[in-house]
Amino acid sequence: MAENKKLRTPIVCVMGHVDHGKTSLLDKIRGTAVVAGEAGAITQHIGATEVPIDIIVNKCGQPQLINKFIVPGLLFIDTPGHHAFTSLRSRGGALADLAIVIVDINEGFMPQTIESLQILKRFKTPFVVAANKIDRIPGWRTNPEKPFAESFKNQSENVQQLIDTRIYELVGELYKLGFNSERYDRVTDFQKNVGIVPISAATGEGVADILMILLGLAQKFLESNLRFDANNPGTGTVLEIKEEKGLGTTIDVILYDGTLKKGDTIVVGSLGNPIITKVRALLKPRPLTEIQTEEKFKSVNEVTAAIGVKIAAPSLEKALAGTAVRVAGSDNADEIAKEIKTELEQVTLPTGSTGVAIKADTIGSLEALVNELTKEEIPIRKAGVGDISHRDIVEVAAIEDPYYSVIIGFNVSMLPDAREKIQSSEIKVFMGNIIYRLIDDYKDWVKKQKEQSEKTIAELIVKPGRFTIMPGCVFRQSKPAVVGVKIVGGSVKNNVEISTQDGDVVGKVKGLQLEGENISKASIGMEVAMALEGPTVGRQIKEEDTLYVNIPERHAKVLEQELYDSLTADEVETFESFLSIKRRDNPFWAK
Ligand code: GDP
Repeated sequence: MAENKKLRTPIVCVMGHVDHGKTSLLDKIRGTAVVAGEAGAITQHIGATEVPIDIIVNKCGQPQLINKFIVPGLLFIDTPGHHAFTSLRSRGGALADLAIVIVDINEGFMPQTIESLQILKRFKTPFVVAANKIDRIPGWRTNPEKPFAESFKNQSENVQQLIDTRIYELVGELYKLGFNSERYDRVTDFQKNVGIVPISAATGEGVADILMILLGLAQKFLESNLRFDANNPGTGTVLEIKEEKGLGTTIDVILYDGTLKKGDTIVVGSLGNPIITKVRALLKPRPLTEIQTEEKFKSVNEVTAAIGVKIAAPSLEKALAGTAVRVAGSDNADEIAKEIKTELEQVTLPTGSTGVAIKADTIGSLEALVNELTKEEIPIRKAGVGDISHRDIVEVAAIEDPYYSVIIGFNVSMLPDAREKIQSSEIKVFMGNIIYRLIDDYKDWVKKQKEQSEKTIAELIVKPGRFTIMPGCVFRQSKPAVVGVKIVGGSVKNNVEISTQDGDVVGKVKGLQLEGENISKASIGMEVAMALEGPTVGRQIKEEDTLYVNIPERHAKVLEQELYDSLTADEVETFESFLSIKRRDNPFWAK
């Protein structure tokens, strides 16, 4: 009976902003386990660390709880970061069953923390917030390795208040993101409230509380997910592809279901068709307690979930991080390969005939990038995994729309031949390791480009202008006529055509002078001398006439449809009267 209730070890990922303490917390958890359980109690896996349940309950000073929990412990993925979370997928969603979101209590949430929280929300992953670096709070009295409640009791009232203030700031931020939260010791229902645990990854205070809450969350919310059968064929996710001396290309895998044996046929996701191969060796890290040999790894015959393991097998060169590894039976390898391929294609599918090109280091991160871009309504033409290549550049260079002649690369680098190629092309590349920042950079760039091109267009387009010939200011009758004018709307530039109030084009501006100085443009309110080629004063034009800058039909269209909002009030007024002159005879003029 008890055996039926066996659950596998939940997989935990630590997420949070850079420098807020992810690595320190993982180190602390590893260290804690080593110290508390003597050598051997903690199991160092490939890419993960396992902390057994007895260490956790002892650490919390509650050894009697050992029988209350049915999970065997916790398996922490060693690569911290929200990137690790999103790129590591299982068939059901995220590979990590639980998460710790770490935040520097003195700094509060940063954009990357918020991004992590949004991802957890999307995946419905239970998590706990670790409000780290409490030892940096002025006046904090350190109680190394103690549970938070014990340490908190020893603080002054001021410090206690400060901690609570900071926590309420976090509660407010979490509320904005759609989470109800509380300091963990005040949470009565973890289903309704996220627990916030003040900790110090440096002194170890509060770390045990985090572990205890994670156990509770696992037990409460994940029981059905964690129930597993060791007889199932092994299923896992590729963490990394690594070249190892003497072993060739190996894959580091987190196995989350079933059992994997030496000699098993496995199917592994790849960019092309999935790889079908046979396990040559299963490797675990050689424990520190064993006599050090040249060998880093220890070979085992079989492993059971949840566990991190290195697989050596032929043909793994093209394996893809973030994709599935599944054990095949005697006759279903092709079928499994087909399933894995379909899963991969579903990720890369939402691409269209136009849009940006994107690259990411794993399938999971590519999917996260696709999701975020889609949310921002930025179309994607092509999505792929891997570094930016020469071919990517060539393809993107052929795109005509300048806003989509773009590659967005998440957690990838640019190959040398691509770098060379890019210098001779017009394409724009955005690279980085924070999705929201990449997207913001792209959006800002598009905005700037648009403004720039509007400015260029605006400079070329003939703008509205209206002026009157001032009485007693005819200095020359014709060839060219020279008259004193007052600009009464918009502006007049050199070389523009002039039309009368009846819409007849009568000539061109051939010069503008203000107090004897040549100028290229006269704006509203100015009184200037104007040379006009074409008309003779007294025939086509006369004193006190109101004349217009003649806007060519094509320009009028652009003004009305694209630049209207950028016109000043007097330009609008002048433009409207010019349009009504033109449309008197032809209502469809410039439409
Ligand atoms: P990561 O970038 O999130 O992995 O952050 P790290 O774990 O590398 O921590 C960033 C810096 O903060 C390092 O200098 C750590 O020593 C320091 N740090 C992390 N946690 C604590 C803490 O609880 N207290 C103090 N005082 N410093 C910490």
